[in-house]
Amino acid sequence: MRAVDIIRHKRHGGELVRDEIAFLVSGYTRGDIPDYQMSAFLMAVNLLGMSEPETLALTEEMLASGSVLDLSDIPGEKVDKHSTGGVGDKTSLVVAPLVAAAGVLVPMISGRGLGHSGGTLDKLESIPGFNVALDLKRFRAVLSEAGCALIGQTNEIAPADRKLYALRDVTATVESIPLITGSILSKKLAEGISGLVLDVKVGSGAFMKDVNSAMELGNLLVAIAGRMGKRAVALVTDMDQPLGTHVGNALEVKESVDVLSGAGPEDLTELCLVLAAHMLVLGKAASNLGEGKKRAAQLIASGAGLEKFIEIVKLQGGDPRVVEDTSRLAAANNQREVRASRSGYVGAMETEQLGIAAMMLGAGREKVDDTIDPTVGLVVHRKLGHPISKDEPLVTLHYNGASRLEEAEQLVAEAYRIDDEPPAPQSLVRTVLGLEDRSS
Ligand code: URA
Repeated sequence: MRAVDIIRHKRHGGELVRDEIAFLVSGYTRGDIPDYQMSAFLMAVNLLGMSEPETLALTEEMLASGSVLDLSDIPGEKVDKHSTGGVGDKTSLVVAPLVAAAGVLVPMISGRGLGHSGGTLDKLESIPGFNVALDLKRFRAVLSEAGCALIGQTNEIAPADRKLYALRDVTATVESIPLITGSILSKKLAEGISGLVLDVKVGSGAFMKDVNSAMELGNLLVAIAGRMGKRAVALVTDMDQPLGTHVGNALEVKESVDVLSGAGPEDLTELCLVLAAHMLVLGKAASNLGEGKKRAAQLIASGAGLEKFIEIVKLQGGDPRVVEDTSRLAAANNQREVRASRSGYVGAMETEQLGIAAMMLGAGREKVDDTIDPTVGLVVHRKLGHPISKDEPLVTLHYNGASRLEEAEQLVAEAYRIDDEPPAPQSLVRTVLGLEDRSS
């Protein structure tokens, strides 16, 4: 078999057989197939798609590139949650400790920033010392002790996704339903969990811009997880504006701590409670969603969720003082405000542009080996439907170097549309897929 023939086969719209997919995935993971051939293959898939059997084979081969954790010796239900990616989407940092505080184990394998969207690992690394590269022995020890551990793909777990994820990030091959499915499920099904909650983002800041494609992705994720023996629920949720108000790694850690302290913004808090409720039901710690949401809210009110986060931070080598007092998190040296060009109401936001602006300031990568500046990002003062007067601040840019400041500033200004009337309000959760009857 030759990689070039498989790429050509796909480019001509052919359906690949499992052996071809296995050849590419294992060859690339071993380093026998170079980045340039894999990039060409990813672009062909991005443009032409994959059938469901191809996507299943891709997911299974990516999973088989590493080991699947056997956590059966650690007692308790194990569940996880994963987002398809958005701007200001920091819910993992909140729901993982919350759900663990309720006694359900969360063995979370996450990713770094992808395209214009942020990643859990980059956010956690803005906590000084936090180690997202625990070896499996330590991962299990932290999980046993705290009920939650958060790491990235390793050479042992989901190594194919580790390489492919980084390559997709810089080759404009992120927005592909089969590639997203293989990437997410190959990590998540390696975790030894019994249930998975998927947050499928839809809107101007998501990879899926319209509800139909988000539903297609959500249904495929649920179906492929089911065919691989795992129970999954997919919530299609709003990403027509950033989630919460903070975008950027340390800024998002601060806002996550705000939520865990009961002082977070309403939309972010609400979504965290809903996601946690689904996880608690899957983890059998709540018999229905209403009970799950109430339990999660109590864990915020009692401080138990925040305490759990601090425990995890300590066990993973991080400095708990920055969580206890978020003013100790490293901050950017400079701030600049982007102001409204007219009065009215925020009618629409090009949320992806806001994510790209944060990347330009240094919050994300444009090349595989770019380093991230944890301190930079945006604080959003006005969101959809908010009234605004001319010259009032829309967003504050937090930055260090000024090299791309003006470009970022312009992107942010252009991301806002200000209308005479407020837009119709939209629901945060559009629909839930894969749900059994546990609605009240
Ligand atoms: N999250 C992932 O892990 N992979 C993707 O491709 C998108 C979001």
